[in-house]
Amino acid sequence: MIQADVVVVGSGIAGLSFALKVAKYGSVVMVTKKDRPESSTNYAQGGIAAVFGQDDSPDLHMEDTLVAGAGLCHPDAVRVLVQEGPQRVSELIALGVHFTRQGQDLSLGLEGGHSRRRIVRADDLTGREIERALLTAAAETGNVRIFENHAAVDLLTATDPGTLGERCCGVLVLDAETGELVPILARAVLLATGGCGQVYRHTTNPSIATGDGVAMAYRAGAKVANMEFIQFHPTALYPASERSFLISEAVRGEGAVLRRRDGSTFMESYHPLASLAPRDVVARAIDREMKLTGDPHVLLDCSAIPAHEVRERFPNILRETAGRGIDMLGQPLPVVPAAHYLCGGVLTDTDGRSSVPGLYAAGETACTGVHGANRLASNSLLEAVVFAHRAAERLGPQLSVTRPLQPETLPAPAGRGDPEGVLLAHDRDEIRGVMWDLVGIVRSDERLAVAEGRLRQIAQHVNGVWAESRATPELVELRNLIQSALLVVRCAIRRKESRGLHHNVDHPYRDNEHCLRDTIVVR
Ligand SMILES: Cc1cc2nc3c(=O)[nH]c(=O)nc-3n(C[C@H](O)[C@H](O)[C@H](O)COP(=O)(O)OP(=O)(O)OC[C@H]3O[C@@H](n4cnc5c(N)ncnc54)[C@H](O)[C@@H]3O)c2cc1C
Repeated sequence: MIQADVVVVGSGIAGLSFALKVAKYGSVVMVTKKDRPESSTNYAQGGIAAVFGQDDSPDLHMEDTLVAGAGLCHPDAVRVLVQEGPQRVSELIALGVHFTRQGQDLSLGLEGGHSRRRIVRADDLTGREIERALLTAAAETGNVRIFENHAAVDLLTATDPGTLGERCCGVLVLDAETGELVPILARAVLLATGGCGQVYRHTTNPSIATGDGVAMAYRAGAKVANMEFIQFHPTALYPASERSFLISEAVRGEGAVLRRRDGSTFMESYHPLASLAPRDVVARAIDREMKLTGDPHVLLDCSAIPAHEVRERFPNILRETAGRGIDMLGQPLPVVPAAHYLCGGVLTDTDGRSSVPGLYAAGETACTGVHGANRLASNSLLEAVVFAHRAAERLGPQLSVTRPLQPETLPAPAGRGDPEGVLLAHDRDEIRGVMWDLVGIVRSDERLAVAEGRLRQIAQHVNGVWAESRATPELVELRNLIQSALLVVRCAIRRKESRGLHHNVDHPYRDNEHCLRDTIVVR
C-alpha cells in the first residue's frame, strides 16, 4: 500500500500543473499508465488560446467561446477561463516553456472561431514543449513521486464519519510490470486522464485516451455530463492504426480541395465556402458522402498548391505522409474525419470539485461547462491549466484538516486466470466499429438504439470476464472503453435535438424550450 496527501491520475497538462501547485501543501503521488509524456498534451499542435493581443480582451474571448458553445457554456466558468488564462500562460513561460516569439512579443496565431489573434504556440509542437517543461519542473520538485506504467483501476471510497456520506479516499492501481494491484490512500484524488477518443475507430487521440477517468468516476457515483458532445476533426489521414495523423485545416486554406474517390467535388452542395466551410460542416459532409457511397474515405487533392509551397508550409505533413507511402505532391491524400475531443466528462464546479467529496477532475476528463456543446479551438489546453490551478488552490489549504480514511473494501476482480486476448481485442474492435458507424458525426434515433443494444451485450461480456479474470492493462482499458461508449450513447439518446457537435437527423433543429441544459447522468 502507498500513502500520500493527494493522488493525481494522469501526467498530461492537467495532472502535472495541478501536481506542481498542490505539492506546496502536501505530498503528491502521480500515477500514469504508460511512459510519463504519453498523453494527448504531447501531440497538441496548434496552441493555447489566451488574451495577449493589444486589440483583444477577455470579453471578446468570452464572446467567441460562448458562440462556439451553442448556448450550453456555463458563463461563470467561461469568465474564469478568459480572465485567469493569461496569468496561467505567463506562469508556463516562467516555468520554462519556450513559446514562439516575434521580436520580444509572443507570436499570436489565428484559428477558426477566434475573432482576434490569441493562439500562443511553440511552432506546431506546442503540446510537446509544454509537456517537456512541466515534466522537468515535476522532476525538480521533491514532493511529487511519479509511478509510470501504473493504471488506475477504480476509485476507493469510505464513509466519512463527519458527514456520514461517501468520500473518495484513494485509488486502486495496477502495476503493469508486476501485475499487482496496489491501493494508494490519500486525502483527495484528482482525475486528469484525458479524453475517450479511442471509443471510435478513427481518432486523433493517442492510445491512452480510453475514458478511464470518466468511467471510474461514474462507477464511484459521480455526476457525468454532456458525453454526447464529441468533436470530430474533418481530415485525418486514412488508414490509421491506433491514432490518425491530422492533416491541418491550413492545407485547405492554401487551396486543397475535397473530392469523392471518383474525383468529383462535393463540398459546394453543403456550404458556400465549399472545402473551406467550418470544421463541423466539413466533418458532417464527409460523413454523409462516405455513408452514401460506402467508401471508407474521401480524398484531399493538394495539386492546386505549388510544390515549393507545400515543402515550405507543410514539411511535417509531407514527411509524415511520405513515411506512409503517399507522395502528396503527386497524389491526393485519403482522409476521414476522426474523433478528436471530448467536451463532456466528470461534472465539476469552477474549483475542479466533482459531486463526490474528495474527488476532483481537471482537463479533458472534466466537464467544467467551458465548452458547452462545442469547443472553441485551443481552449482545451487553457481549460486544463486554469482549472487545475483552481483545484490545487482550493484543495491545498484543506489538506491539513482532512482526515485520511480507510476504504471498507477493495473493488478488485476476484478471478485469477488470464483473460483471453483474442476476445478482448474483438470486443475492443467491435466497440470502436459500433461507435463509428452508429454514434458518429451524424446520428439517428434508430442507429443510437441499435448501438445501445449491441454495446450492452458487449458490456455484459466484459463484466463477466472482469469478474472471472485477473486484471490486466488491456482488460482495465476495455472495461473503461465500454463504459465510456455507453455513456456517450446514453447522453446522445437523451438529447432530442441537434446542437453544436450533436446532430440527430430525427431531431434536426435546436430546441431551446426543452433542451437548453446539460445532459447529466449518474450511476
Ligand atoms: C492531435 C491532437 C492535437 C491537439 N491540438 C490541440 C491544440 O492545438 N490546442 C488545444 O488546446 N488542444 C489541443 N488538443 C487537445 C488537448 O491536447 C487535450 O485536450 C489536452 O492535452 C488534455 O490534457 P489532459 O491533461 O486533460 O489529458 P492528457 O494530456 O491526455 O493526459 C492524460 C494522462 O492520463 C493518463 N491516464 C489515462 N488513463 C489512466 C489510468 N487509468 N491510470 C493512470 N493514468 C492514466 C495518460 O497516460 C496521460 O498521462 C489536441 C489533441 C490532439 C489529440
